[in-house]
Amino acid sequence: MAALEQLPESFVQRLAEILPRDRFGGCLESFSQLKPTSFRVNRLRTTEEGLMEELESEGFGLTRIPWSSGVFSIDPDQRRQLTDSAAFSEGRIYIQGLSSMLAPLVLGPRPGETVLDLAAAPGGKTLQMAAMMENRGRISAVESVRGRFFRLKSNLERHGATLVKGYLMDGRAVGAKVPERFDRVLLDAPCSSEARFTTRDKASWAHWSLKKVKESARKQKRLLDSAIRSLKPGGTLLYCTCSFAPEENEMILDGQLRRYQGQLSIEPLELPLDNIQPGLVEWRGKTLNEDLVGAVRILPTSEMDGFFLCRLRKADAS
Ligand code: SAM
Repeated sequence: MAALEQLPESFVQRLAEILPRDRFGGCLESFSQLKPTSFRVNRLRTTEEGLMEELESEGFGLTRIPWSSGVFSIDPDQRRQLTDSAAFSEGRIYIQGLSSMLAPLVLGPRPGETVLDLAAAPGGKTLQMAAMMENRGRISAVESVRGRFFRLKSNLERHGATLVKGYLMDGRAVGAKVPERFDRVLLDAPCSSEARFTTRDKASWAHWSLKKVKESARKQKRLLDSAIRSLKPGGTLLYCTCSFAPEENEMILDGQLRRYQGQLSIEPLELPLDNIQPGLVEWRGKTLNEDLVGAVRILPTSEMDGFFLCRLRKADAS
């Protein structure tokens, strides 16, 4: 198996500890597979019907994704043709991984709400939320890396997301600056990106080490604390990463659930997929909050990348 020989040995060993035994082989194989290119119709700029007609007339073979309207995939061989298309350059579609699209769907922002996207660039999820909110309400999109911030700004403009205000700042400072401000908060946390590894590109894992996992975890802990503080009583928060590591996922949440005991609870997720695993309630001998079973790890397949999602609710003001 190509992935077994090429990916870092300690990563593969850890993965065998994390994932269900009967799914491990398939997951490992997925690191060598070229996935279809998925994209979302940008309803701020066009309609699904018009766009399908346009792309089909240009020769694209569209496959509809059953669990979300306005989402399609094409053969990866057509990716280049898609990025050269007018629909792409005019912001009528946004190319986005299927797992990544789950986060806004699960957070569920509504028109008129006040939403924080705490780690926003390049903006795929910000744009998806803008469309879900029909450009009504407010999204504050925070990004700390200058180059990425300007990429976010240009994506917002190209895709017509007028309800977004961008902030070039460290997300760790937001909670103290604007406590209890937002109805919903998305924290798509910077991570070790384990779910992005591909045997087709050694650079995808060149940065990876256990040290990197621990460094990411330190930052995630502070970002999540900031996210929780910025949330209104009764508000909803979605924490997600593209890492498999429990240190970046369940353990971060376990720590904050202990810290905010009685003020924060997990809202169990139910997703219309069969490549999912409930959150871990134990890792390497440490018992974690039993409600973490309501979090979800998306198992990587030939169609989807791995991902981790957990939805939290802040208690109402007493
Ligand atoms: N949500 C984005 C999307 O769907 O397009 C992807 C976000 S990516 C997983 C995480 C982002 O967090 C990166 O752009 C990274 O530069 C940014 N980041 C890292 N540290 C940060 C911090 N302290 N505050 C805010 N953003 C940060």
